[in-house]
Amino acid sequence: GSTIGIIGGGQLGRMLAVAAARLGFHTVILEPEAGCPAAQVANRQITAPYDDEKALAELAQTCDVITYEFENVPVEAAQKLVEKKRVYPPPIALEVSQDRFREKAFLNDCGIETAPWQLVNDSAGLAAALAAFDGRGILKTRRMGYDGKGQVRFRGDGSDDVAGALASIGNAPAILEGFVAFTREVSVIAARDRLGNIRCYDIAENVHSNGILASSTVPSAISATTADTARQAAGKLLHALDYVGVLGLEFFVLPDGTLLANEFAPRVHNSGHWTEAACAVSQFEQHIRAIAGLPLGETSRHSDCVMENLIGDDVSRVPEILSEPFAVLNLYGKAEARPGRKMGHVTRLKTSK
Ligand code: ATP
Ligand code: MG
Ligand code: MG
Repeated sequence: GSTIGIIGGGQLGRMLAVAAARLGFHTVILEPEAGCPAAQVANRQITAPYDDEKALAELAQTCDVITYEFENVPVEAAQKLVEKKRVYPPPIALEVSQDRFREKAFLNDCGIETAPWQLVNDSAGLAAALAAFDGRGILKTRRMGYDGKGQVRFRGDGSDDVAGALASIGNAPAILEGFVAFTREVSVIAARDRLGNIRCYDIAENVHSNGILASSTVPSAISATTADTARQAAGKLLHALDYVGVLGLEFFVLPDGTLLANEFAPRVHNSGHWTEAACAVSQFEQHIRAIAGLPLGETSRHSDCVMENLIGDDVSRVPEILSEPFAVLNLYGKAEARPGRKMGHVTRLKTSK
């Protein structure tokens, strides 16, 4: 059988490795942290930094196709691998999604609407951008933000610490986004194969708590027209990136159904975990199919469901979850349940039984 290389050893890599194994592939994980969630279920781990020259050479030598499970893989590392082996998704998807400025500009260039935004390089830039957005908005670092980290909210009610805001994000280059009064947040998980075929899963409705995804519900309460628009946006983005693999695209939904894209992840996505329980082909298998040159699988769901993330101490509820008849549990093999740490998830299928 052939071998798939995965850069990154977290839970997404773990679930990709399981899906790959079920299709008869071997997997090699490149990850500096020994005993990581992905390596526990993979055939092999190369324990080294993501940009380690020797490790990358070894990965290219031992694998037929290489992918990644997080968006902050160094672009140069991915580009080096491209010279030797197939790398999917293409490194341009990393490049764009690693920088919120490039990401927003790329989405807009694809004809995908976002919240209004402005580049912020210094305090004068911040003042000008805030004035343009009536004093309300969210300052976000251009790079390395996740789970709501690297963000400052401005309410425009006199309580904001505008002077201290840039320092609180380490004076990093940033953007200011206008504040979106959304009624809900949704995401689309879409796949594109090597031939350019596209398939989308049903749109999930996402609830965040403290900046971290708490739950995804399918179906979402959005209209069929809004759902169509979301899928079309994903299609445009996938084609523009000449993408191969699975991608997650997040949106805000306005009261009138208008969609504003927030960000995309060039990988399998937390808001697509429900697919393993409610679809014949999960997002993880879909990604492996796409990158391995296999035909894409069915994306329709056989059940309505709610996926709940198990964060930190939530894992103490596992015994009760195990007694629920239609709860599909997935734990990531992380030893320590630190606050804010994603330990697993459970998808509850809605069934009349
Ligand atoms: P992750 O990658 O974990 O999804 P992140 O750190 O990249 O998170 P965002 O997705 O940009 O951050 O923002 C996190 C959450 O903050 C959003 O899902 C949304 O709930 C809220 N949020 C972000 N931007 C805005 C905005 N412009 N207006 C209103 N709410 C926002
Ligand atoms: Mg993000
Ligand atoms: Mg997000």
